[in-house]
Amino acid sequence: MATSSFAPPGLDPKRPRALPVPKGAAELPGFNPDSSVVSDIIPSANFGERNNGLVADMIVLHYTGMPDAEGAIARLCTAGTDVSAHYIVLEDGRVVQTVPESKRAWHAGIGFWAGETDINSMSIGIEIINRGHDWGYPDFPSRQIAAVTTLCRGIMLRHDLPSHRVLGHSDVSPSRKKDPGEKFPWHSLANSGVGHWVRPAPITRGESIKLGAEGERVTALQHALARYGYGIEPSGQYDATTMEVVTAFQRHFRPERVDGVTDHSTLTTLQALLESLPNKAATTA
Ligand SMILES: [Zn+2]
Repeated sequence: MATSSFAPPGLDPKRPRALPVPKGAAELPGFNPDSSVVSDIIPSANFGERNNGLVADMIVLHYTGMPDAEGAIARLCTAGTDVSAHYIVLEDGRVVQTVPESKRAWHAGIGFWAGETDINSMSIGIEIINRGHDWGYPDFPSRQIAAVTTLCRGIMLRHDLPSHRVLGHSDVSPSRKKDPGEKFPWHSLANSGVGHWVRPAPITRGESIKLGAEGERVTALQHALARYGYGIEPSGQYDATTMEVVTAFQRHFRPERVDGVTDHSTLTTLQALLESLPNKAATTA
């Protein structure tokens, strides 16, 4: 295998648009795909064992945020970059698996969700090819969204994950990350049973809570966000962290306006989400 000039196992050389195989990937041992929607295996050098007996208990969705798919695949598979994901979903709907689901991929970095900080040990990471906010942030093609949806449904079944455990990178790392971003059609995934969603409450004129506010209303908001799973302390101060968490919440659940200001629509949507969680799902924060 090491000296082969052919495509590695799983890669069909007859395909009209062959996937780029990063340098070194052909030398890595292959593995069997975990999902029937996988079209290609490109083994990544970047993964380890899940820590402390943690198992895949959530799905974290990302966009790659790079100008092209070739560069993103190379970065996610090449030794030394220290980043990877279990799956990469291309714009044409092809699904590439790069790390077995049983292993710990390196996609989330520093984060927090519902009391846990080692997000990589407790999640399956999916990188969606999209240039992201820094490169024009194109819409996600429907074929790509269909593939993400089908892939997630299978993961949820295999690992017995409830819908509210399908999250965005920005949900678990609100101060550092925007992906997959406000253009990601969470509502359409939810129509297929993937992800927790309620129709966002309409935006109306009226009072809002914003940066600099303090007091009981702020504490109540922070409690509610923490109960849903976000990493926020109920301090009573609407500080920069609170604004970042509210922004992340809006990107996911109320994408029509993403400004970090807690208006009536944001608060009502959050309350509706909390009320529609399965019993015992909300954290006790
Ligand atoms: Zn990400």
